Amino acid sequence: MVKNNLVTKLTDILSVKAVLTDEMMKNHTSFQIGGPADLLLLPHSIDEIVALYRYLKTAAIPITWIGNGSNLLVSDDGIRGAVIKIAENFSDIKIDGEYLTAAAGALLRQVSEFAAENCLTGFEFACGIPGTIGGATFMNAGAYDGEMSQVIEAVTVLNKAGQLLHLTKDDLTFRYRGSSVQDQGHIVLQVKLKLKKGKKTAIAAAIADLTARREAKQPLELPSAGSTFKRPSGYYAGKLIQDSGLRGVRFGDAAVSEKHCGFVVNLGKATCRDVMTLIDFIQKTVFDHFAVNMQTEVRKIGQGF
Ligand SMILES: Cc1cc2nc3c(=O)[nH]c(=O)nc-3n(C[C@H](O)[C@H](O)[C@H](O)COP(=O)(O)OP(=O)(O)OC[C@H]3O[C@@H](n4cnc5c(N)ncnc54)[C@H](O)[C@@H]3O)c2cc1C
Repeated sequence: MVKNNLVTKLTDILSVKAVLTDEMMKNHTSFQIGGPADLLLLPHSIDEIVALYRYLKTAAIPITWIGNGSNLLVSDDGIRGAVIKIAENFSDIKIDGEYLTAAAGALLRQVSEFAAENCLTGFEFACGIPGTIGGATFMNAGAYDGEMSQVIEAVTVLNKAGQLLHLTKDDLTFRYRGSSVQDQGHIVLQVKLKLKKGKKTAIAAAIADLTARREAKQPLELPSAGSTFKRPSGYYAGKLIQDSGLRGVRFGDAAVSEKHCGFVVNLGKATCRDVMTLIDFIQKTVFDHFAVNMQTEVRKIGQGF
C-alpha cells in the first residue's frame, strides 16, 4: 500500500500526532542508535492498540513492539513496517489497597515512586531500571535481588490472534530475563502488582540507597542499553570481560565502559555496526580466555537481524 494511504488509514485509529513516518529509532532508544522506522505509532489506550494490531495484521504490515527502548540495539538500516511504541502515551497508574495497576507504558521509576508515595513497599528494586512496566514484564527485569516475577499478580495481554486475555500469576512463568509472555509473543497492556504496606521513610531510604549504588557502579552518564550480556551461569559478565583485558576497548564510538565492563556504551556517534563488531570481539575474546559463551541480553531488532 502507498505510504500516504496507509498514514490516512492509521490516523482514523490514532491522533495525527501519534503517527510518525521515517522516524529515526535513535530518538527512541537509550543507546541512541538506530535508523529510520517506516512508521512509528504511539497509541494512547487498549482500544487503540487492539484496533492498530487488527488493522496492520489484515494489511500484512510487519509490526515491531517497543517500550522505552532501554534494552534494544536497532539496526542502522532501521525497521521496515510499523513500530508500535507503548510508552508515555499509555502510562496511567492506579492503587487499590495493596494492589497497584499500571498501563504497560508506565516507567518503572514512576511506578516505584507512586508506590512509595502511597506507602507501598516491594517495588523499590525497580526504581533505577529505565524501562516500562510492559517491557519489564516481558523481560522479567530485575535488580538487587528483586525481579518482576515476585510482585506480578496479573496481566492483561493481547495475543497473536488479536484477543485480550487476562492472566493471573498462576498462568505465567518467569525465568532469568525471560517469561512465558515473551515465549508466547503476547503484548503486555496492563500489569497488576501485589505490594505490601510499608513506612514511607523506609521506602524512600531504600530507593535512595539503591540509586546511590547504581550511580556509583554504572556508566549512567553515557548512552547504553544496560548490561549487554546475560549473566553466564557461575560467572559475572562484567568480570569475565574485565579479566579478558577488554576494559575500554572500542570499535568506532562503541566501547566497553571503563566504569563497568558489563556495559557497552555509546561514546557519541556509535553505529549498530560498531556495537555488533565490539560484541563479536568480546564474545570471541572471552571464549578464548575462559571457554564461556556470552549470550546477549540486549535485543537486536530491525533490518539485517
Ligand atoms: C542504564 C541501564 C540500566 C539497566 N538496568 C537494568 C537492570 O538493573 N535490570 C534489568 O533487568 N534491566 C536493566 N536494563 C535493561 C532494560 O531497562 C530492561 O530490560 C527493561 O525491562 C526494558 O524495558 P523497555 O520498556 O525499555 O523495553 P524495550 O527495550 O523497548 O523492549 C525490550 C523487549 O521488550 C519487548 N516489549 C516492550 N514493551 C512490551 C510490551 N508492552 N509487551 C510485550 N513486549 C514488550 C520489546 O519487543 C523488546 O523485545 C537497563 C538498561 C539501561 C539502559
